[in-house]
Formats: sequence, C-alpha cells, structure tokens
Amino acid sequence: MREYLKFYIDGQWVDPVTPQSAEVINPATEDVSGTISLGSPADVDKAVAAARAAFASYSQMSVKDRLDLLEAIQAEYLKREEELGEAVMEEMGAPRALACGFHTLLGKGHLGTAIEVLKEFKFEEQRGVTMIRKEPIGVVGMITPWNWPMNQTCVKVFPALATGCTMVLKPPQLAPYSAQLLAEIIDAAGVPKGVFNMIQGKGSVIGEALSKHEDVDMISFTGSEPVGVQIQKDAADTVKRVALELGGKSPWIVLDDDGLAEHVAGATAGMMGNSGQTCSAGSRLLVPNARMDEAKKVAAEAANGVTVGDPKGNFAMGPVVSKSQYNIIQQYIEKGIEEGGELIAGGPGRPEGLEKGWYVKPTVFVGTNDMVIAREEIFGPVLVMIGYDDLDDAIAIANDSMFGLGGYVSGKDLDTCRDLARKMRTGAIWINGAFDFHAPFGGYKRSGNGREWGEMGFEEYLETKSIIGFEPA
Ligand code: NAP
Ligand code: MG
Repeated sequence: MREYLKFYIDGQWVDPVTPQSAEVINPATEDVSGTISLGSPADVDKAVAAARAAFASYSQMSVKDRLDLLEAIQAEYLKREEELGEAVMEEMGAPRALACGFHTLLGKGHLGTAIEVLKEFKFEEQRGVTMIRKEPIGVVGMITPWNWPMNQTCVKVFPALATGCTMVLKPPQLAPYSAQLLAEIIDAAGVPKGVFNMIQGKGSVIGEALSKHEDVDMISFTGSEPVGVQIQKDAADTVKRVALELGGKSPWIVLDDDGLAEHVAGATAGMMGNSGQTCSAGSRLLVPNARMDEAKKVAAEAANGVTVGDPKGNFAMGPVVSKSQYNIIQQYIEKGIEEGGELIAGGPGRPEGLEKGWYVKPTVFVGTNDMVIAREEIFGPVLVMIGYDDLDDAIAIANDSMFGLGGYVSGKDLDTCRDLARKMRTGAIWINGAFDFHAPFGGYKRSGNGREWGEMGFEEYLETKSIIGFEPA
C-alpha cells in the first residue's frame, strides 16, 4: 500500500492545510492500492507564493547552472527508473514491459532532449539596433492527465526548468504515484526550493485555483477538450497564457500497395497499445475500398492476437484506467453496433476469463466517418476502419474531424506519403512509424493550441522582449 499524504512545496514535504485524503484504485484488481491527500486552494496559495519567490533568482540562473541541475535530475531519474515504471504499472494498469519500457523512456527522453536543446538554445538574438531576448514567462501551473503520466509530466517540467520558469504541478488523481516519485527525484537532485512544487488533488479544486490565480502567469494543460475549454475561461480574467494539449481522433492512411497487410496489422496492434489510451492514437484506419476484404481479415487477426491480462504478467494489453472509463468505452461499443458499424473483432464486455479489473476486448469496427464512433474520442482499444475510393477521398475523410492532433501514413511510395502528410490538417504526421523527440507535438483545431517536445517546447514557456537601441543605429 502506498501512502503519499504530503505535498512538495518550497523544497519541503508538507501536510495539506486542511487534511483530506482519497484512495487510489488499481485498475487491474479493483482493489485500493494506496492513499493520497487532496489539496485545497490554501495549498495552491502556498505553492504559488513559493514559486513566485523562487522565480526572482531562478530566472536569473545561468544556462550552465541550469544544465548542471538538469543533469543532476537525470542521474537521479536513472537511479529510480524501475520504481517509476512500477508506479505507472500500478496507477494506470500499463503492462510491466510497457510501463518500465516506453512510459519511463518517454520521461527520460524529454529530459535528455531538454538538455540537448538548452545547450544550443539562443535566448538572445541581435537584429539591427534591437536585442530580442527570450525570457521565462514566470510561474507556470501544470495540469496533467493519467494516460501517459511520465510523458505528460516530463514534457512540461523539464522544458520549464530549462527555460528558467518556476512551477506548480497538479498530477491526475487517477495516476498520482509516478508524479510523487518525480518530486522526490527533483528534490534529491537539489533543485532550489520553490522552483518545483507539487500538490495532489481534484482538478475541479486545484486545477481551477491555479487557472484563476492572480500570480500564475501560465497554465500548461494536457487533457480532455471540455476541461481545456473550462481552463481557458477560468484563466481569461487574469489574461494568462494557456497552452492546451487536448484530444484527438487521428487518421491512419494505408496506401494500396503490397505492404498493406503488414501496415494494417501494425496499425491495429498499435491502436491497442496502452489500451487505446493515447491522445494521438490512430483510431480511424483508412484503407482502400478495393482492398477492404483483405484489410478486414488482417485487422481482425491482429486484434484477436493482442493478449489481454494482468499488467504483472506477460500480456500485450492491461486494463483501462478506471471503472468510469470502462463504462464509457462499453457505451461507445454499444453505440457502434447500434449505428450499424460492422464488428469484426472484440465487442461488448470483458475478455473471457477476466472477471475482475477494467479489461476491454480489443475491438475493431468497419464503419463510416459520420458514425459517432468515428467522430468522438473513445480513449479505449476501439478501432474504426473506414474505406476510401482514392487518395483525394482519403484526405477528405482524414480531414473531416473536429480534431487535428496526429496523423499517420504507411506505404512504399515515399512521395505519395509526403504529399498526403502535407495535405493532412493535423499537428503531427508520422510516416511509416518514424519517431523523433525533437518533433513539435500539438494539435490543430480542437486538439489544442500548444506545441510541446524539443525546441518548440521551450518557446511555450518564454516571453519575447525587444530591447531597441541595444546597439546604436
Ligand atoms: P481530463 O479529465 O481533462 O483531466 C486532465 C487533468 O485536468 C486532470 O489532472 C484533471 O484532474 C484536471 N482537471 C479536471 N477538471 C479540471 C478543471 N475544472 N480545471 C482544471 N483542471 C481540471 O483528461 P484525462 O481524462 O485525465 O485524460 C484524457 C484526455 O487527455 C484525453 O482527451 C486525451 O486525448 C487527452 N490527452 C491529450 C494529450 C496531448 O498531448 N494532446 C496527451 C495525453 C492526453 P483530476 O485528477 O481531478 O481528473
Ligand atoms: Mg477524466
């Protein structure tokens, strides 16, 4: 049983102003796995005051000193990587290999990337008589989701630390453990007091208090679209910068060539990764109508081949994060059947033999882009395969969405892949499974307005100052 009852404020582990706690449930067993404290606006006031006080000196710390600090954090992170993975496995149910693999690797990757970018980043640039300076925006409130807990947290915290900001982090109630360990790592690395603060609690309380706070300069939020809308409203009166990384319904176009079977299988298995709880998951798989029969066979086989079970065991997929997510996903599966989607794998209910834990069957529908299951983010292991007539049709379907987070193109002809990628209205497009920590990540349309990862992830936390007459004319 984990017990994390203290918050990290001003370099100390402190009790909440008003004690209140909540149990955390292990989604694989439905049992209580631990207890956390729930904060109140009074805790937020303390943390923001600490961050404000620390900003005066931290914002002036040299790049060299900030690099040393990030490297000290890196050393601590590496020592505790296994523990971080265990925490992720327990809090959100990712299989051990994934939790101790890609989940913690993403956190480590953003840390390494922040170090690389900081070494090269130009905070000052002379243009004529003017010096253009990039300066840290100030105190940042960070509100994160549970689905890739280390990724979402690290992609904010490390660029913010690198650019000289101070911060208050509010981790998700559903996945609070890994953030607690991260705070311990940051503490052990000797980050000056007040620079990084962490308060657990409800989004509707802590998140709202941060969004409305007079002394918070920016909110960086990753989560669902409705909460992003609310945060923007709450932040409006204080004219804060609000960076939003929201949901998606990302298209994956498979070209009509002899790699189709392999790509359909890969895209289907990819959709089931992390139990489909990935903001940029390729949840609409677009295949040529002329090859639909073949695609159906391959997708069904791939989905049925995804093993589901205890995260501690050797399975490809664990449970989804909570009872409430389980119920929402089940409703979408029912909806897909009701609106005439052709169910070719999975379906309602738990996989056979799994009576306890929030396990969902890897599910594939063949449908049309106007169906609810093709329009709304399900956030579970449910793929919708849609046929296209030609490449113009594929692009029209791909872009017919209120979201614009990710996109994928798989095929042998690289020119065609590039052409389709240029025409897709999304913030990131992955061609043939490539991956890059330096590629900006964020959404068009209702998928948000921010860009994280790499150098652009630094820009989020920076103000621009012009000093005119820095050089005489
Ligand atoms: P969520 O329900 O929006 O919650 C995200 C965070 O916001 C949580 O910490 C939550 O606190 C907090 N929150 C809730 N109400 C709030 C309020 N009124 N004011 C301020 N904060 C509030 O999202 P989720 O269910 O955790 O995560 C899934 C969503 O995140 C999906 O839509 C997914 O697509 C999106 N996502 C986007 C990206 C991206 O980079 N674009 C990446 C990952 C996930 P609680 O702890 O109380 O819930
Ligand atoms: Mg939620």
